[in-house]
Amino acid sequence: MAITRLPLIAGNWKMNGVKKHANKLAGSLAKRFRNQKKQKFEMLICPPAPLIGPVVEAVRGTGIAVGSQDCHFENAGAYTGEMSAELLKSMECKYVILGHSERRTLNKETDAVILNKATTAHKVGLRTIICIGETLKQREAGRTKSVNRKQLINSLPHQATAKNTVIAYEPVWAIGTGKVASPDQAQDMHQMIRAELYKLVGPAEADEMRIVYGGSMNPINARELLALPDVDGGLIGGASLIVKDFWSIGQAV
Ligand code: PEP
Repeated sequence: MAITRLPLIAGNWKMNGVKKHANKLAGSLAKRFRNQKKQKFEMLICPPAPLIGPVVEAVRGTGIAVGSQDCHFENAGAYTGEMSAELLKSMECKYVILGHSERRTLNKETDAVILNKATTAHKVGLRTIICIGETLKQREAGRTKSVNRKQLINSLPHQATAKNTVIAYEPVWAIGTGKVASPDQAQDMHQMIRAELYKLVGPAEADEMRIVYGGSMNPINARELLALPDVDGGLIGGASLIVKDFWSIGQAV
């Protein structure tokens, strides 16, 4: 049977933008998405948490999905400043990004924490985008595959399926640096991740599960990366804040 993986083009706005930008950016994307003849990809916007509501309204009825950049592993309780997966689901979020390298580094998130968060998110019906990736030091030490394999094995819940999980391969040295993985480097890693998924979730789910690339993707390098056999979309930071650039990446699918 033919494998159909609808590419996912996901924008991670990180801690950027205020309400008026959110309305403008999401509103412009909504107009373009609504006017396209054929949907060749799924579009996702992950704004800062307080902008989730306004972005949901701006894209309502277009098919563009909205997601969060994180969630807590508990559904409620004394966790000042945190957001539960249940709350995000009630705000009409469809996805949650987990284990972004900035959270792994700045918030000391471990694979065990990410696993817990992903398990809770799946329980309430959120889809997870689980990020993995090596640092430059790890790559130069020849540890790229072992680091990514370990992060994948330890962060992926047992109940992960192609429907509720997307893997994002994001080499840390490529995030926000303008240095992008070469097509060979990206395909090599995505192929390795899929091979690992065969063992973790079984061949049927692994064949259908999307593995997206993240790290300085832009309208110039997107076409080559998105054409790779195991690259099923992109997780995009900087370029997702510019309508024209984010849209061009989608058109490169
Ligand atoms: C990211 O934050 O996940 C990311 C890939 O950022 P950038 O596209 O800016 O490198």
